[in-house]
Amino acid sequence: MTRILIVGAGYAGMTAATHLDRISEPFTLINKHSYHYFTTLLHEAAGGRGEPFHYAIPIRQVLRRASSEVVVDEVVGIDRERRVIRTATGEHPYDWLVFTLGWIPEYFGIPGLREHSLVLSNLETARSIREHIESEFHAYVQDGDVRHLRIVVGGAGLTGVELVGELLNWLPRLCVQLGIDPALPEVQNIEAMPTILPQVSESLRESAVQTLTRKGAKLRVNTKIVQVERGIVRLEGGESVEAGTIIWTGGVRAHPLLQEAGFTVDRRGRAKVNEFLQSVDDERVFIGGDCAWFEGADGKPVPPTAQMATQMGSLIGDNVSSAVHGQPLKPFRPNFQGTLASLGPEVGVGDLKGIPVKGFIAGLAKEATKVKYLWQLGGVRLAFDKSSELVHM
Ligand SMILES: Cc1cc2nc3c(=O)[nH]c(=O)nc-3n(C[C@H](O)[C@H](O)[C@H](O)COP(=O)(O)OP(=O)(O)OC[C@H]3O[C@@H](n4cnc5c(N)ncnc54)[C@H](O)[C@@H]3O)c2cc1C
Repeated sequence: MTRILIVGAGYAGMTAATHLDRISEPFTLINKHSYHYFTTLLHEAAGGRGEPFHYAIPIRQVLRRASSEVVVDEVVGIDRERRVIRTATGEHPYDWLVFTLGWIPEYFGIPGLREHSLVLSNLETARSIREHIESEFHAYVQDGDVRHLRIVVGGAGLTGVELVGELLNWLPRLCVQLGIDPALPEVQNIEAMPTILPQVSESLRESAVQTLTRKGAKLRVNTKIVQVERGIVRLEGGESVEAGTIIWTGGVRAHPLLQEAGFTVDRRGRAKVNEFLQSVDDERVFIGGDCAWFEGADGKPVPPTAQMATQMGSLIGDNVSSAVHGQPLKPFRPNFQGTLASLGPEVGVGDLKGIPVKGFIAGLAKEATKVKYLWQLGGVRLAFDKSSELVHM
């Protein structure tokens, strides 16, 4: 029997797997956890909106057919010659590989950043960010040192801005619980580029700046982090910011195994794919999501987003099955639906297919994307079961 192996159950891998599962095409899926988590909502878990487990779903609740196998293990290498994936506990041969292991943080060589910052990348890190902030606030209650109440978020793209919005909603409640003056905590969002949220239009950015500033954020653009030490962020020009919590959201790169295995990669470690999302180095390997270097009609690589990852996963599911059965493959045609950024519960900014939206409407549209994704994964059953946990928590 032809062996299809999918590695990584994020947006791209789960969508590909769902497509194969629906047509009972046999495959094996290897993932670090037995659950699929919603990366795009991790800021909600970190910011205390809901318990981390609300933002995940058991993989077997989505993939229900006996034709699929789910292996919980960590992928540690690819042997391209032998067509084998190596994991922490063994080896898995494949005839067709779907590589969707997602991203790791990009630290741009900034000294100390990796060692002294937290990163929002999965359920565990969302939980540790939340617990770290709680413990810093408890420390303030003990010693009165306001540095415990200062949080620096490096990077003001989608992840950074959404996290800041969420923190600004949560911290006043945390202060009330611990008897801290809610005016004391400080959230600084530090960005090297001239603007926050480069994905949206200038007027929407302005609206996001106003909303976040009104809620108390200190937004600092054109400000480069040049070094990080324990509890200290050093900026270009000599200024230092002392903070109990330092979180890095400033960049991502593709999973390093692609580069290690000798695939053709770009400067962000993404492996080059053809129009069918097969590696240009090996047609037996499909690559999707944040790991894929696919150039759109404008010649630029499509951005690393969940939106692109699900569209790629969907096509890969179809194409890998077609490849197995000798059918023609379909080309990838990215369909940009727009960008939505939440600025805390119920408010946001963004554009929907070019139409600018902000405030409550954008917040509502963002909530709708959660239900839409659940629907894509598991139809009405999943959308009904899970969305009550996720929407308006
Ligand atoms: C807080 C936050 C907010 C975001 N908001 C948005 C948004 O609003 N809209 C948007 O479009 N995008 C958003 N993004 C970006 C989006 O989440 C990513 O582009 C998307 O997750 C990429 O999907 P993927 O399938 O490539 O990888 P992932 O979703 O990261 O999945 C990779 C999977 O592989 C598993 N894995 C990794 N390494 C191994 C290993 N060695 N062995 C086994 N398994 C492994 C991981 O556990 C994970 O399940 C956001 C990201 C963050 C962090």
